[in-house]
Formats: sequence, C-alpha cells, structure tokens
Amino acid sequence: MIVTAAVLITLGVILFTLGVRRKDLPEPAPASPTAHLEERKAAIYENLRDLQFEYRVGKLSDDDYQQSKLVLQKELAGVVAEIDRIGGVPATSSVSAPKPVSMPAPATVTTAAPAAIRCPNCGASFPQRMKFCGECGSPMTEGA
Ligand SMILES: [Zn+2]
Repeated sequence: MIVTAAVLITLGVILFTLGVRRKDLPEPAPASPTAHLEERKAAIYENLRDLQFEYRVGKLSDDDYQQSKLVLQKELAGVVAEIDRIGGVPATSSVSAPKPVSMPAPATVTTAAPAAIRCPNCGASFPQRMKFCGECGSPMTEGA
C-alpha cells in the first residue's frame, strides 16, 4: 500500500515536472543542423553592431571600419549561404529517420512454434524429430 502510494506520487511528480518543463521551453530545437550557424550569424551581426558603434564614437578610422565591415559581411554571407544550403532539410528528419530499420523480426515467431514431436512410448514432447526418445530411449517412429 505504502509502496504503491510512493510510486504514484513519484510518477505524479515526474509528469508534473515534464509538463512544466515543456511549458517553460516552448522552442528547444537542439537537433537543428543550422543551430550553430544561426548562432554564428547572430555573433557576426553583433560584431557588426559593435564595429559600427566603435566607428561612430571615433575609435576606428574610415579605412579600418570599411575593412573590418567587409570582412564581417563576407563571413556573414558565407554563413547565410550555408544555412540556405542546409535549410532545405527539416530539422527533425535527421533524428527520426533511422527508426524504420530496426523493426522486430517476425521470423522468430514462426520458427519458434513447430509441431511438437511426441514419444510414442512415454509421451515426452520434443521440438524436433529424433531417432530415439531423450526421456525413455525408445525409438521414435513417424506418425506416432
Ligand atoms: Zn519416450
């Protein structure tokens, strides 16, 4: 009784926790193949913002600013192109695709239940035909 109650409470806590967690994280998407690229893109955007800021406050010369901006924009273009290239594939397909390969083999079910061979003398049953009964040693003839 006590054990059952404990198990039910534990299950309830687990289910509750899972439910809350799902609500807290509406968009986890950790398996996305473009996730690291999106991160990279965001970082480059941030660098561009920083660069613009430094230029505006006079920390950078015109040439330095243009040069750095060009480098960042080039990198950004590369990242965006890579996202576009990968982006055609749905994020979940790489995770759930290999499932159908490992289906339970139905062959074992049909081979596991052959008609039992019975000893005509003692009635002991065996999974396959033998010359002599393994129980009483008498010859096992067909159709007995
Ligand atoms: Zn026998």
